[in-house]
Amino acid sequence: MNDYDLLVVGSANADLVIGVERRPGAGETVLGSDLAVHPGGKGANQAVAAARLGARTALLARVGDDGHGRLLLDSQRAAGVDTVGVLVGGAPTGVALITVDPSGDNSIVVSPGANGRLTPADVRAAASLFHASRVVSAQLEIPLETVEEVVRNLAPGSRFVLNPSPPRPLPAQVLAACDPLIVNEHEAKVVLGDGAAVSDEPEDWARLLLAKGPRSVVVTLGGEGALVASSDGVTRVPSVAVRAVDTTGAGDAFTAALAWRLGAGEPLAEAAAYAARVGAATVTRQGAQVSFPTAAEVAALPG
Ligand code: ADP
Repeated sequence: MNDYDLLVVGSANADLVIGVERRPGAGETVLGSDLAVHPGGKGANQAVAAARLGARTALLARVGDDGHGRLLLDSQRAAGVDTVGVLVGGAPTGVALITVDPSGDNSIVVSPGANGRLTPADVRAAASLFHASRVVSAQLEIPLETVEEVVRNLAPGSRFVLNPSPPRPLPAQVLAACDPLIVNEHEAKVVLGDGAAVSDEPEDWARLLLAKGPRSVVVTLGGEGALVASSDGVTRVPSVAVRAVDTTGAGDAFTAALAWRLGAGEPLAEAAAYAARVGAATVTRQGAQVSFPTAAEVAALPG
């Protein structure tokens, strides 16, 4: 019996955001706005997005024994995520130091902290979570060797979904396990490496990525929707027309929604169409986790 629709293995960060008139140069100090602290990190975001949609969700992650760690645990629990797999200690909670200027451009410094201490041994120790989950999703804000161990520990019949962000070339065993590999245009280029130079067409990237070994590939195209590639060919998933306010977290919400619907047995193209609606709802609101929609809000979107 599966207890979870989705197990997310990934990062949890505190996002520390300060608005500035302009960024300081070397040796310079500038005054900024009041500090805003938000729960973030791609793993934590995906888990909250899935739970808010109604998925029974667990998170395997590591945070520090500190206030940021408690903020992350609280936000996961408030969204309904099971935090039995969130390990505490070993390093400070991961932090993203973000400055935003009046034009909305940001500069970000990430300290991975405890995310970098989520080890292959932590994955092996979470075997019961793997056995209880229909779908397992991961990203790359944790060590690659930990993601490789995730692939080795998948329970028979469970499905693996990877968003390789931040992107890097991927080992063949990881690529072969992805069903699907979910990339935006930048991630597609990095994963393809030299192969990306062959064409400027996302359809071609989707085919080339599929040839690298995943069972399926999804290329997200922001306001243009997405592409789905499998042995059945490449199909386009239309975007939902909305007034975009802030695209932060759209990819995380898309991935979480897709993983959940796949676990519910939907075909990839249908699951991607639902995920596109979730991504569209997310961009209509400011922020990351606070912008993730409920299933009722997704249903209320036009189209
Ligand atoms: P990432 O955040 O990883 O770069 P995208 O920007 O491609 O990912 O967004 C993920 C998905 O969210 C898209 O495939 C699309 O379905 C939806 N989305 C993103 N931006 C918009 C937008 N402006 N209008 C409608 N849907 C959007």
